[in-house]
Amino acid sequence: MNKPHDIPSPSANNAAAVDNHAVMFITQRPELVMTEGHGSWLIDHNGKRYLDFLQGWAVNCLGHSNPGMISALHAQARKLINPSPAFYNEPMIRLSNLLTEHSCFDRVFFANSGAEANEGAIKLARKWGQLHKAGAYEIITFDHSFHGRTLATMSASGKPGWDTMFAPQVSGFPKAELNDLDSVKQLITDKTVAVMVEPVQGEGGVIPTTSAFMEGLRALTREHGVLLIVDEVQAGCGRTGKLFAYQHYNIKPDIMTLGKGIGGGVPLAALMATEDTACFVPGDQGGTYNGNPLMTAVGISVIEQLLAPGFLDDVLRKGELLSAELLKLATEFKLEGERGKGLLRALMLGSDIGPKLVELARDHGPEGLLINSPRPNLLRFMPSLAVTDEEIHLMCQILRKLLQQVK
Ligand SMILES: *Cc1c(COP(=O)(O)O)cnc(C)c1O
Repeated sequence: MNKPHDIPSPSANNAAAVDNHAVMFITQRPELVMTEGHGSWLIDHNGKRYLDFLQGWAVNCLGHSNPGMISALHAQARKLINPSPAFYNEPMIRLSNLLTEHSCFDRVFFANSGAEANEGAIKLARKWGQLHKAGAYEIITFDHSFHGRTLATMSASGKPGWDTMFAPQVSGFPKAELNDLDSVKQLITDKTVAVMVEPVQGEGGVIPTTSAFMEGLRALTREHGVLLIVDEVQAGCGRTGKLFAYQHYNIKPDIMTLGKGIGGGVPLAALMATEDTACFVPGDQGGTYNGNPLMTAVGISVIEQLLAPGFLDDVLRKGELLSAELLKLATEFKLEGERGKGLLRALMLGSDIGPKLVELARDHGPEGLLINSPRPNLLRFMPSLAVTDEEIHLMCQILRKLLQQVK
């Protein structure tokens, strides 16, 4: 039978139609199927190339088709894909060691997504509260924060409207204001067990925390005997030019979550804790795919490449280059400015032209540009950490052309 959605829809430039009828509708997607990726470039089913400054939302920290990741995946697939989570496996142990050797944490639990790692962090903090804080369970989070899309992490998130979606909510997440220590102080009660913060708010519009705030937060949480949790799902793993974003400040958090970049594109996330905080006992935490060797083998390759001599310094340098080039655009087009840390940056547009620019950039020919607009008045850039200077210049060149069209 010829259902209406089988009729090819006419699309621009005689591009091949996309049969999407069996895909659950959860977001508006362009009529494009991405088929290949290499470094900073993504290729669609029509053969068009896109300069990718999205990289799967800061996920592909080494760009597309990274050779080291591919060989790690191949080698591990031939050796062992899944022994079951009831046993240790070699990559799980090696990656745990690598992460603890290069951070202030002592224990690692691997998960499959950032939201799952954050769920684990919430559970761990509540468990710690039961053991050490007379059942305190409230976790102070921040307006405009983003911690994931499970029920608890939606409640923890400070996205407007998320406090009524899919009610009833998981309770216990009072919201403070980022970079406002007093607003945190006012929320601390004997029910408080932790404060959870993104060192750079990503989805909220790339808003870095200040050193005074992060260091004040650490002092405040110590003073009240509550935990400090950093959600580094977006800002961690080299994105800001340090292996972990908290390392920009003079602090040692109690719990950290990683996602996105740690797998370089494969589903891998981590919950890390200090020895004193890692209080789960058997039965508290688990999951079928947690710590599976296929994903953790890729994670080893990713972290080793980030730790290669000079790599992170170069991320800092390229972050400064991107910052300077964005500032030039801001001056030229009388925009509000730019902000960020390392290669997680935003251009503040001063008006709601973000979504229009995202569309124009994607449709730009012959080569498209992929960027995003987490808020309509700004653009976010999260290129491969291996992006070249030439690619940064090319991105700004395309953007300059588009700004001339819309401004
Ligand atoms: C993306 C993100 C998450 C959620 O990660 P998923 O892998 O999508 O579940 C959590 N926290 C932050 C800061 C993020 O950017």
